[in-house]
Amino acid sequence: MRQNDVIVIGGGLAGLFAAITAAKRGRQVMLVTKGVGAIAIGGGSIDVLGYDATGKPVRDPSAALGGLAADHPFAILGQQRVETAVQTFLGLCEAEGYPYQGDLQHNQWIPTALGRLKPTCLTPLTMNSAILKAATDVTVVEFEGLKDYSGRVMVDGLRQCPGYAKNYSLVSLKTDINDGRDLTALDVARWLDSDSGQAAFIERLTAAVRPGSVILLPPVLGTKPDYRLFHALEQATGCKLVETVGLPPAVTGYRLRRLLVNCLGKLNVKMIEQANVVRGIVENGRCTGIVTGNLDRERTYRAESFILASGGFFGGGLQAEAGRAREVVFDLPITVPANSADWSKEKLFFAGSQPFAKFGLQVDGKLRPVDASGKLLLENVYVAGKSLAGYDYCVEKSGNGVALATAYQAGAEA
Ligand SMILES: Cc1cc2nc3c(=O)[nH]c(=O)nc-3n(C[C@H](O)[C@H](O)[C@H](O)COP(=O)(O)OP(=O)(O)OC[C@H]3O[C@@H](n4cnc5c(N)ncnc54)[C@H](O)[C@@H]3O)c2cc1C
Repeated sequence: MRQNDVIVIGGGLAGLFAAITAAKRGRQVMLVTKGVGAIAIGGGSIDVLGYDATGKPVRDPSAALGGLAADHPFAILGQQRVETAVQTFLGLCEAEGYPYQGDLQHNQWIPTALGRLKPTCLTPLTMNSAILKAATDVTVVEFEGLKDYSGRVMVDGLRQCPGYAKNYSLVSLKTDINDGRDLTALDVARWLDSDSGQAAFIERLTAAVRPGSVILLPPVLGTKPDYRLFHALEQATGCKLVETVGLPPAVTGYRLRRLLVNCLGKLNVKMIEQANVVRGIVENGRCTGIVTGNLDRERTYRAESFILASGGFFGGGLQAEAGRAREVVFDLPITVPANSADWSKEKLFFAGSQPFAKFGLQVDGKLRPVDASGKLLLENVYVAGKSLAGYDYCVEKSGNGVALATAYQAGAEA
């Protein structure tokens, strides 16, 4: 039977990166997950800190980390460990042939599907917004039948952003997908994975754009983490290309997930998918195993250390009941206001965070769970990603950054 040193629960960005980190340190790692995580449908850009606690845009995330509340995951890790995680991630992407660009000292403002700009820290080369910013002529490409993406909305939105008064032109292209339904970016990206799709698209795009223009298009340049189509298009058109952020399914996250899963395979990490971890086995304050429960029967897996990367409420790692919230696998406590009416503010959108958005597990400096008095609850369990308390990724734009940095730390500790 396989002996595992480390078991990771959860296959989102935090679980995948924690498993890679532990495996690269020579640990025998198994990853058990019931789903694919937000990364499979989300944007693949790595937000670290877009807005500070007062809602002000952050220019230099590295410098702004020092101003965060003491229970924020980045404050628990410290700036140096976040920097190391970012550098390790950039090195990994480079080594896998799909480099990312950016650094922890600068935020970049990337165009969303609505033609607004959002701050992020690291992006694939296809989302380098500096190219768009420097452009004079911009060709916005849309696809016939592609839902959730309108070239007109993009142009109207960008024109209102300071510094984005450019010469815009709009091009609408046909795909060869004829199954009678609305298309998603993933459909178009799959079409562009095929040789025939690529050939048709290169021909149609080249005919529609003027060399020297910057081409702005939704995230459709294939589902694989490689830049061959991107470079082929640049060469054929004589233009630079920039992919925007997309609404789910945003293919850029899907590509990153594929890169990380490929990497797990090379590192001999065993990945068990569609496996729901129903409980942990705890003896004398240590976890000795986890139990998965699927339709057929329960299975027990043992290891020395465990990483809990189960994705908070959205991922299924935390659950809320009337007056109470709980962590699902170990039944760890979540501190919440006694009165459920205080869990949320009446207004959905306001300057600040909804209280529930910051609910999660409290941890020590090694990311192990503690109770409200700071008492260590499990000696050999390390928490990473969205199950952690103390941050609201939607408001501050820190989702993938917290996932990466805490995963790196948890993987190193385990
Ligand atoms: C649509 C969308 C778009 C986003 N875009 C961006 C972006 O562009 N940039 C950015 O920085 N952030 C973005 N975010 C936020 C970011 O994706 C998340 O903050 C981050 O990826 C969380 O990763 P995670 O691994 O902690 O959690 P998740 O991705 O939720 O993964 C949790 C994993 O745990 C598994 N799991 C849960 N419970 C169990 C159990 N009992 N047994 C087994 N497995 C279990 C789940 O199936 C899942 O695989 C986006 C989020 C969403 C929803």
